[in-house]
Amino acid sequence: MNPANKGARVEGASHWPAISKDVAAFPVQPNMPDYDAARRGFTWDQARQALAGLPGGRGLNIAYEAVDRHVAEGRGGKEALRFVQADGGTRSLSYADLAEQSGRFAAMLKGLGVGRGERVFSLLGRSPELYAAVLGTFRNGSVFCPLFSAFGPEPVRQRLHLGDGRVLVTTKALYRKKVAPVRDSLPGLRHILLVDADGRPEPETLDLAELLAKADPNGEIADTQPGDMALLHFTSGTTGTPKGAIHVHDAVTAHYATGRFALDLHPDDIYWCTADPGWVTGMSYGIIAPLVHGVTAIVDEEELDADRWYRILAEQHVTVWYTAPTALRMLMKAGAERAAGHDLPALRFIASVGEPLNPEAVVWGRDVLGLPVHDNWWQTETGGIMIANYPAMDIRPGSMGRPLPGIEAALVARDADGKPIMKEGQAVLVTGPDTMGELALRPGWPSMFRGYLNEEERYRRCFAGGWYLTGDLAKRDADGYFWFVGRGDDVIKSSGHLIGPFEVESCLMEHPAVAEAGVIGVPDPVAGELVKAFVELKPGNEPTEQLQLEIIGFARKRLGAAVAPRLLDFTTTLPKTRSGKILRRLLKSRELGLPEGDTSTLESPAGPAMTLKERP
Ligand code: AMP
Repeated sequence: MNPANKGARVEGASHWPAISKDVAAFPVQPNMPDYDAARRGFTWDQARQALAGLPGGRGLNIAYEAVDRHVAEGRGGKEALRFVQADGGTRSLSYADLAEQSGRFAAMLKGLGVGRGERVFSLLGRSPELYAAVLGTFRNGSVFCPLFSAFGPEPVRQRLHLGDGRVLVTTKALYRKKVAPVRDSLPGLRHILLVDADGRPEPETLDLAELLAKADPNGEIADTQPGDMALLHFTSGTTGTPKGAIHVHDAVTAHYATGRFALDLHPDDIYWCTADPGWVTGMSYGIIAPLVHGVTAIVDEEELDADRWYRILAEQHVTVWYTAPTALRMLMKAGAERAAGHDLPALRFIASVGEPLNPEAVVWGRDVLGLPVHDNWWQTETGGIMIANYPAMDIRPGSMGRPLPGIEAALVARDADGKPIMKEGQAVLVTGPDTMGELALRPGWPSMFRGYLNEEERYRRCFAGGWYLTGDLAKRDADGYFWFVGRGDDVIKSSGHLIGPFEVESCLMEHPAVAEAGVIGVPDPVAGELVKAFVELKPGNEPTEQLQLEIIGFARKRLGAAVAPRLLDFTTTLPKTRSGKILRRLLKSRELGLPEGDTSTLESPAGPAMTLKERP
């Protein structure tokens, strides 16, 4: 265990004791030893000074900051990416290798006539070709849009169509299965580049390796400006088609600053972000932030497996680990004994993002891995981490932490329809401690999205009275820690009480038989809504009526009758997005027999409800 996290415990705002930090005992001094001082002294312009900028003051390009700069400053031989293959073997790319490969990719794009602002999509696993394609696209001044390789043909078609994809980089198998069937409906998609064509591309596709071999390894770097579009990330709304969030080259300023403060990256780190680059976390923090910091980033080419992950953490000497609550819960479910025997002396910081992190998981990290898990919050639209628990700051388990230096966060009051309450053109803010409002951010940070592609009105609706509205509901305690309550449309009102589903889910997960839980509100003529829980059991537990009553009783005891679920169904699979978020909205639609909306990012369908019981 890292002795720095053994310090005295102080009371937090939840019933979980806070985890205090003893910075003097840290093996490496944190980049931000004093949060308040850092906040006071921070400006984004100052953060920009840490970047190199294109030589000759020609502009700003993410690829230059991530790769060429290190080569120019004599660090070309340093290991940039270390891929862990299926058999546990590794292959590495140095910063110089990345410069050459991305140079070739950029020259190849140019040769194909792909210009600035044109969209290059990927549909790939976590292979070296993906990384060269991302960086080569930035280098060429084109725009990269990653797709998740587990998408089916329809979400692939829809995004390529909405994003006006000009190039797609993929594999033979993915092409055959997901692209060939819809290719005819995508006339704008001019080039399909196969990474594994092996000299025999499919009809109407190109062999990427062959093109790269012929391309100039010193492909020019475009003189992009900070406000030029660099990335397109699709995100799903509650209704309508997926939205393409636009990000610009200046986002790299935020990736650098957040990598420094929220992930505490130091040049010698071996850093592992488990997110797939098909999603925004895997792009911002799996590729850009670590490379800009010049660290060595681990890429696991395989999927989550408890033993494999513990082996990677130990054998690769990972120092900073950025993962997600679902992954942590799966490790918790696998049992603490699986972690035993894997010594992790190098590990010094663990962070998590993407969904509510149950306090239990924060503490599990400390007890089982020797380090607490540091939750942080952001979303596709923010492009980078906005609220975080920092190494030198006490953790209040269940809280997302405090806003990054340079980020002004507030809670906006909402009316009964969920609309922001306005007064004289300004949004009314919720100021009292522990009062809920919609989480809002003051626009102006560098990685803020600059639009939803071709959807001006949808973009405009995200802002009110000088704030960007995140759609999430949160509370803030007296010390400025933010606590996630739920998505704007998930909060339950029962007998006049506002109930955050996350709170109920966290409580249910503390029951020894519960693996995961999703909680929604169902209409009730007397109470308005009743809290209903869908519960997935850990292996070895039977979905009996007795267990159902026991779990309801357990929750009642902890949460009180007004908050605890009145209804509880066992299920074998909770519906989740591919990035692991429980889709409460979908649970609700299915429960109420309503239309299901956009389900293209759905990973697992809801399993059958096994029993249904209403408590009096
Ligand atoms: P995405 O745009 O797919 O990254 O999803 C962003 C959404 O995930 C946020 O608006 C939140 O609803 C949720 N989210 C992200 N991080 C957290 C967190 N630390 N705690 C709770 N919810 C989170």
